[in-house]
Amino acid sequence: MTEAPLAGHNFDAAYRETYVGVAPDAFVRLGAEDNEGLRIQGTCPRCHGDTASEYRYGVPGTGTKGLLSLLRGKPDVPSQDDAQALVLREVHFCECGHPHPDLPVDAPFVGCGASWRLGELSGRDAG
Ligand SMILES: [Zn+2]
Ligand SMILES: [Zn+2]
Repeated sequence: MTEAPLAGHNFDAAYRETYVGVAPDAFVRLGAEDNEGLRIQGTCPRCHGDTASEYRYGVPGTGTKGLLSLLRGKPDVPSQDDAQALVLREVHFCECGHPHPDLPVDAPFVGCGASWRLGELSGRDAG
């Protein structure tokens, strides 16, 4: 909940679609207030920007991301365990929100173009 960029966000990194492997830092799963999806927050392994991705459950045809295509067809909201397992399998993209140099106009996400998988996901349900 801060507007200040994290120290170390490399704004000058040119946009490049790069799969960087498993992210070294743990990401945090934020509780979905409306219980309609998951929100994953962490640091982009490439540009070190603060990135958050939102995955909404089963709303077909609304420009949803990969997770939803996996979840789609299920009649109900998946269990948190199911959703977490899917998130760990998913490839995530940098959504740091900074238009990195050479960002294509049709880029799917505003960020540096990096993609990665999560090695670790901590919940933040308590409190
Ligand atoms: Zn990035
Ligand atoms: Zn960035």
